Amino acid sequence: MRKTFIAGNWKMHKTVSEAVALAKELVPAADGNSRYLIAPPFTALSAVGEVVKGTPLLLGAQNMSNAESGAHTGEVSVHMLKDVGVQVVILGHSERRLIYGEKDAFINEKVKLALDNDLEVILCVGETLEQREAGEVEQVVRTQVEGGLKGIPEGFLDKVTIAYEPVWAIGTGKTATPEDADAVHAFIRKVIKEMYGDKAAEAMVIQYGGSVKPGNVKELMAMKNIDGALVGGAALKAETFVPIMKYD
Ligand code: PGA
Repeated sequence: MRKTFIAGNWKMHKTVSEAVALAKELVPAADGNSRYLIAPPFTALSAVGEVVKGTPLLLGAQNMSNAESGAHTGEVSVHMLKDVGVQVVILGHSERRLIYGEKDAFINEKVKLALDNDLEVILCVGETLEQREAGEVEQVVRTQVEGGLKGIPEGFLDKVTIAYEPVWAIGTGKTATPEDADAVHAFIRKVIKEMYGDKAAEAMVIQYGGSVKPGNVKELMAMKNIDGALVGGAALKAETFVPIMKYD
């Protein structure tokens, strides 16, 4: 009953013309059984929005301000994102957490603001290598899920996707084994169950992210608790992202 959700996070890559060209190559591939999303950098959102408008390929942003407007130099608001056709925003990515110091309470403000303005959210969680080696995976992931969703009523959960992205697997070529990833996904589902009950836990779409490629996507998606992928490096070219979109 959960619909697979394949998302490409382009991070700080692609000029406007490069982004438009890639989006044009991806639109025809967004015709399968999954949901599909691309998240270009802010500067390309407007132009890519024109390309994907009216197609099944969803437009995502990679971050958003926690404020609605005003004196916030360098930030982009929820209203600005909606204005250019953004439907989904990625929040709490590990690069935001680790390079820019974003904390759960701050990410939670953004989650609330996005949902209040009818924007879908992909909430990213995941442990570092040190945390994994210290046996803290469950504690870290629980804190991030509970912190990110704090105060969010159950009625908004159909607009929330969780992405489990172990930091040690991002951009490193190291993927969690499908079994290891599935175990953490099952744990996340348990946390959602504790917070919201069985029905919400069963319905929650949980993506895996971290070195997803054409060669490993199928076995990852075959796992019971893995409902999609958040893809970085392999999302930057049609020749690697299209096979991921069409893994089934
Ligand atoms: P990767 O990035 O696929 O390059 O590992 C995933 C992500 O950070 O979303």
